Amino acid sequence: MDKQLNPPQRILMGPGPSDVYPGVLRSMSTPLLGHLDPAFLTIMNDTMDLLRHVYQTENKLTIAMPGTGSAGMETVFVNLLEPGDKAVIGINGLFGTRMADIAERCGAEVIKVEADWGTIIPPEKIEAALNEHSNVKLVAVVHAETSTGVLQPLEELSEIIHNYGALFVCDMVTSIGGTPTEIDKHKVDAAYSGTQKCLSAPPGLAPVTFSEKAGEVINKRKTKVQSWYLDLTMIQDYWSGDRAYHHTAPISMVYSLYEALRSIKDEGLENVYSRHEQYGRALHSGLEAMGLKLLVKKEHRLNQLTSVIVPEGIDEAETRKLLLEQYGIEIGGGLGSLKGKIWRIGLMGYNAKMTNVNLVLSALEDVLRQQGYEVTGGAALKAASEAAAK
Ligand code: PLP
Repeated sequence: MDKQLNPPQRILMGPGPSDVYPGVLRSMSTPLLGHLDPAFLTIMNDTMDLLRHVYQTENKLTIAMPGTGSAGMETVFVNLLEPGDKAVIGINGLFGTRMADIAERCGAEVIKVEADWGTIIPPEKIEAALNEHSNVKLVAVVHAETSTGVLQPLEELSEIIHNYGALFVCDMVTSIGGTPTEIDKHKVDAAYSGTQKCLSAPPGLAPVTFSEKAGEVINKRKTKVQSWYLDLTMIQDYWSGDRAYHHTAPISMVYSLYEALRSIKDEGLENVYSRHEQYGRALHSGLEAMGLKLLVKKEHRLNQLTSVIVPEGIDEAETRKLLLEQYGIEIGGGLGSLKGKIWRIGLMGYNAKMTNVNLVLSALEDVLRQQGYEVTGGAALKAASEAAAK
């Protein structure tokens, strides 16, 4: 007989998925509804309202696509781009690279604006690209680059992009629920995110939002969207208006998203952001007190995802293995050019709390000591609690 499923208990402090709110888990064990049941349609409407609240937008076209964050990324590009369109893509980490790949697959002419991993995309580089290339349809950047821990400032970029008449596209997979997204304030035309980071729900849905202008671009396309499954010209009629069947909504995932967004609204957006800020600051101080160096300059650092440079003589993968085996804590390693060089520690959503800061600092101190790294006992916890109290 096959054994009953019984996964081990972990503390998920990597780049996602993060631990989910207890209420989110409970919501997923509630009874299924038919996907056209009026009760489910009400839950879809409420989920759209909650998404608007958390994204900070009035955008009508704000829905949750089935699939993970990459499905959201693909949704934005396949719907906005047609063959021959020009797209400027900022690349300062793995997810910028992925955006460029998808835009190329849409048949777009991709103009890459690159910056070192661990730094922001300088707005003047985007301006130079817009100066050099006429009729650019969209400019895309990653708001919170999970592969490095960089927060991209949006304000100046938005002004530049709109001056050139292009659409402003943002990857908000790791920022939603952890950093103010302020879609309307920054005039972001299209954004996508995922459920498994600071929203603290399981992976499986990709909330997307489109401005009126972006919606018009989609509805006036000359060619069909090349992906049937992600075609918003049809899906928008399922989430509102006619409620026309397109695909069967992942019912339990929609419950989980509703409950996660409701928890965030209940705590208050400002409180949620300041909680991430407070404990992110505590973690940064604790790591530095341990003598470790952080990859990203203070002013561009994310609170919810911290990249730590692996010290000389320490085995990056062995450290993660010891944390998992001895403490049940998962942290992430580096990707692409940062593979083997950094650890990535997440304090996302429900997980952004002082007990987790203390836990990961103590555990890291111990497994580094086991590998011969000299640490002044207790310095990290003292620095973290002082920083949290500021
Ligand atoms: N964009 C960013 C910034 C991400 O961090 C991720 C996932 O880590 C993605 C896109 C892709 O999301 P997923 O892995 O859920 O498909």
